[in-house]
Amino acid sequence: MSISALRDRLNALDGQSYKAYKSLRGQHALGDCTLHIDYVQGDPFAAPSRLRISVSQVIAQFSPRFYNTDVRRIALEDYLIRQFRDQARLIDRTAGSGKSGLIEIVRPSQAILPRTAASVCEERVELRFMVGLPAFGRRIAGRQAAALICDRLPLLIKKTLHFSQLDEAAVQAHCDGAEVADTLRQQLRDRQLVAFVADGSILPRQSGVNERPLQSGAVTFQSPESLRVELSLPHGQTVTGMGIPQGITLIVGGGYHGKSTLLRAIEAGIDNHIPGDGRERVVTDAAALKVRAEDGRSVAGVNISPFINHLPQGRSTAQFSTQDASGSTSQAASIVEAVEAGATALLIDEDTSATNFMIRDRRMQALIAKDREPITPFVDKVRQLKDDYGISTILVMGGSGDYFDVADTVIALDNYQPQDVTAQAQAIAAAQQTARQAEGGNTFGNLSPRIVLPESIDASKGKRAVSLKARATDEIRFGTEAIDLSAVEQLVETGQVKAIAAAIVYAQEYYVDGQRSLVSALEAVMADVETYGLDCLRDRLTGEFVGFRLLELAAALNRLRTLQCRLESPESD
Ligand code: ADP
Ligand code: MG
Repeated sequence: MSISALRDRLNALDGQSYKAYKSLRGQHALGDCTLHIDYVQGDPFAAPSRLRISVSQVIAQFSPRFYNTDVRRIALEDYLIRQFRDQARLIDRTAGSGKSGLIEIVRPSQAILPRTAASVCEERVELRFMVGLPAFGRRIAGRQAAALICDRLPLLIKKTLHFSQLDEAAVQAHCDGAEVADTLRQQLRDRQLVAFVADGSILPRQSGVNERPLQSGAVTFQSPESLRVELSLPHGQTVTGMGIPQGITLIVGGGYHGKSTLLRAIEAGIDNHIPGDGRERVVTDAAALKVRAEDGRSVAGVNISPFINHLPQGRSTAQFSTQDASGSTSQAASIVEAVEAGATALLIDEDTSATNFMIRDRRMQALIAKDREPITPFVDKVRQLKDDYGISTILVMGGSGDYFDVADTVIALDNYQPQDVTAQAQAIAAAQQTARQAEGGNTFGNLSPRIVLPESIDASKGKRAVSLKARATDEIRFGTEAIDLSAVEQLVETGQVKAIAAAIVYAQEYYVDGQRSLVSALEAVMADVETYGLDCLRDRLTGEFVGFRLLELAAALNRLRTLQCRLESPESD
């Protein structure tokens, strides 16, 4: 059907009841692009209709150099989503009731992430977005709909998906920037680094709720000389900055001198960032995980015995479950879960840690004997975590010098400027012995895999077999349960949370069989996403899914309050 035929159809719907829009479901020719109307809203106030538009590369004309690697393609797709949003904002909204005339695409953060809202391949370019089909009251506004779909949308698509209409230098910078970050991140393991912060980076953000870079008064990052490394860029150039070595790194310094800001930039370094973010060249090992205390969280059969033993009333900690963990047990469980899920580095801030989990000083050891204290503090385990499991730790710790004994690197922040104070800290540790007794044995402890009981995952609610909702990056409504993700801090977009919710249901449907371990079931999900794309997670197409890591998927499942696990018994294979 041609564009004029679609226009005639829309005009003919004018004045009819809103339900008549349902007849538009399906595929339509729209000039030189193809429009798919995948879902039609029930009324003008309901969630808007879902549309998809694809344009052949014959018309769109993107050079393969913008999408010939996954990293560059994802960056191009990211750029197109942002371009669509910017251009859509310039369009006058069609008059009408409720969501009439709304044009909306998923909202990206500062990170460049794979999203189902855009896809680019050799044949075509596609965008998925939402439109409020126009109405006055509950009557179809047919002429407004025709103007919206047949005039405004094609123009918007042209300004977004025709390469000739775009700022070529900006597209190039977007793709190159992502490639640079990826190249830097790939060098970390060979150089035995956990993170790299390029000289000149801008780490502080505008505010706790605004992820854009601080505009005025930001002190740009300069590496201390002794930690400065040089990494290579794609075309033979190099970049210098601070390399944080594998092992145990302390970030110390006075209050308000920028410690948490540095750690947060490192947390964000698992993702690539858009040009102008200030953290474009701050990169972190892809499997680095922020962990924190989170009292009140649930825990399902986790072996927290490396940290916590002989609880009152003889409760077992080798298979520990609770609906209401304390600060210390929650942090212990999160660390053991991180080890189980394959984290290679832990990122911890004293601001969000349980003090009694982090330290137990000599005086307290003298007052409360070890057999009266279930907790082995992290200071006695952090070295074993590295030696036994190869897991590094970056720790913000301004309040206790007990960690000097175990630290490989100590970075002090002074007026936002980092200094290497490793030698001083080690000299102080040698001169002022704490005479602490190490606790908790010589090894971290063995962790046997957990197996999920399939019936303990249930997304149904009332008559609906699957009911999922996401609220910001903080919560999943999973059937009748709420999964609290506020302590899973490296999630940056609601679309990640939506995709994770769907991934849990998918895991339950295909891989959680009472035999596979929790992690191997989730690995199978990630392998499918890798092969088939995020679309495989749900039976209908959505423009709302955003890529996520296994670490966050596991973190979400681990916080499902109905979850039950058993430990793999040694005799079963
Ligand atoms: P700490 O954890 O050491 O107490 P924060 O990291 O919370 O300190 O930083 C304190 C304040 O300083 C924050 O408002 C932060 O935005 C700001 N800040 C951090 N780093 C810089 C910087 N490089 N330039 C300017 N302001 C900064
Ligand atoms: Mg702080």
